[in-house]
Amino acid sequence: CGIVAYVGPKDAAPILLEGLQRLEYRGYDSAGVVVSNRGLKMRKVKGRVADLAAVMPARFKGTLGIGHTRWATHGAPSDVNAHPHLSADERVAVVHNGIIENADELRAKLEADGAVFLSETDTEVLAHLIARTVEDTDSLAEAVRAALKRVVGTYGVAVVDARRPGEVVVARNGSPIVLGIGEKEMFAASDVAALVRYTRQVVHLEDGELAVLKADGFNTFSSDARETAKEPLTVDWEA
Ligand code: GLU
Repeated sequence: CGIVAYVGPKDAAPILLEGLQRLEYRGYDSAGVVVSNRGLKMRKVKGRVADLAAVMPARFKGTLGIGHTRWATHGAPSDVNAHPHLSADERVAVVHNGIIENADELRAKLEADGAVFLSETDTEVLAHLIARTVEDTDSLAEAVRAALKRVVGTYGVAVVDARRPGEVVVARNGSPIVLGIGEKEMFAASDVAALVRYTRQVVHLEDGELAVLKADGFNTFSSDARETAKEPLTVDWEA
């Protein structure tokens, strides 16, 4: 339902929570965040962003992270089904808006190949698929692209890799993703409302596009991996 991502010099968790709060008007049943700091740290709960904030440890440091508010479509609202979803080795974390229509089929194949699923969500297949490819390709963008090629359905996604602590990959197909450009920091969200407190410079992804975000900037790519040129827009909005 709602996605927020951050990479830059600041602590990610407060920015992610604040962004998720700005998306509360959309309605949701659970919330969660991952930050990267010598491995991925995750907290997620059934309930409101305030319930998530209440279980955040005082030390939850990391200058890169992703957050999500969920509106359950596959699997009941629960702590386990809340996003983010991790790969078995906890290397890859994914948040997802939308519906993966062929999730059952992908899941059956992955399970036949030894994957152990923790949740009932359609989203978790993405974590497993991406983790399997990132080992071989050494490119998170390439691994996300390969996983999304196998997916039928709609998505806005944000993905992090514990071994790439300076990079967030986002992609969309039928579910919005907007990038926010800051001073030596980058944001992404499913709705510009989560970003306007931090920046007015935004870039809207189009269906099929993928973006790699780093503190010092971003690159966007079409579904066939060609780099696309995007002009930032200035949003005029009351924060
Ligand atoms: N289909 C996913 C789930 O049920 C994502 C739902 C959403 O857009 O929040 O977990």
